[in-house]
Amino acid sequence: MTLEPRDCLMQEARSALCPSTCVGFAQTLARHGLRLEREQTHTLQINTGLLCNQACRHCHLEAGPKRTEIMDRETMDQVADYAERGGFQSADVTGGAPEMVPEIDHLLTRLAEAVPRVMLRSNLTAIRDSAREHLGLLCRDLKIVLVCSLPATHASQTDAQRGGGVMDASVRTLQWLNTLGYGQSGTGLELNLVSNPAGAFMPPDQGRTEERFRRDLQRKWGIVFNNLYTFANVPLGRFRTWLEASGNYEQYMTRLTETFNPEAVAGLMCRSLVSVDWKGDLHDCDFHLAKAIPLDGTRRHVATMSGPPLPGTPIATAEYCYACTAGAGFT
Ligand code: SF4
Repeated sequence: MTLEPRDCLMQEARSALCPSTCVGFAQTLARHGLRLEREQTHTLQINTGLLCNQACRHCHLEAGPKRTEIMDRETMDQVADYAERGGFQSADVTGGAPEMVPEIDHLLTRLAEAVPRVMLRSNLTAIRDSAREHLGLLCRDLKIVLVCSLPATHASQTDAQRGGGVMDASVRTLQWLNTLGYGQSGTGLELNLVSNPAGAFMPPDQGRTEERFRRDLQRKWGIVFNNLYTFANVPLGRFRTWLEASGNYEQYMTRLTETFNPEAVAGLMCRSLVSVDWKGDLHDCDFHLAKAIPLDGTRRHVATMSGPPLPGTPIATAEYCYACTAGAGFT
């Protein structure tokens, strides 16, 4: 797809500037005759808050057990009303760990009535907590698509990134989800995995990684799943702090800029998705949400929106956008 050239209307965002080796993302787009603006927005991504039972090293939101920001029931209702009113095709529920938000059952139930496809992102440990097992059953009954984080098929990498014991707990959860029908053919219960690198390097090829995960998980634990997605870590939050502390930031940004793929721009998720935070305010994506950059430069609450942002609305850019256009891209 070819996009029209134009001057960069959106200033490179309020985040820290690129290191000396990194050209601004907006400049790079302009050099390729591209611009970043919306197409039809069909997905509403809902960040239910920063509370999480884990504190992963790569987390761009710095979520963790001590965070208190969570979505309340009134906001959930406003979000679900917006999803319906806006004619969204899908809702993508994320966090933090959405499973830990007290009224999450209510949000999922309302969304399932409002849109054809609801996805829930899970870290695979919060959903199996004894107090929340009913959530798996609710997801099954509502036919919610599960998108689950699993960095690797061996414990050393998974536990290094996400905490001790996470691999064992994740395996038990996946086995349990399989017994509920998730990932099994003919059930209509979709179980997808996402994998990201443990350090300052690019993810391996998605197709080959999916094949390896399918083989390993089946052989070691009899686990089946539908699809696997790989993505590059976004240099924000805890991952950025780690990159800087370990002296890897410049090198990582250089790698991201060198692997800029102009073909990936047309499929960027920010062109078809809008993200709502736990207070109900809208952002172009979950990364701009992390940096508190509002949609179209103005604070907008779901309760005041008549529909999705219009096609042609400009999208703010920042240096971390390079993580979305590296290699095959981040969709
Ligand atoms: S961070 Fe990625 S998803 Fe967000 S605006 Fe930039 S390119 Fe789009």
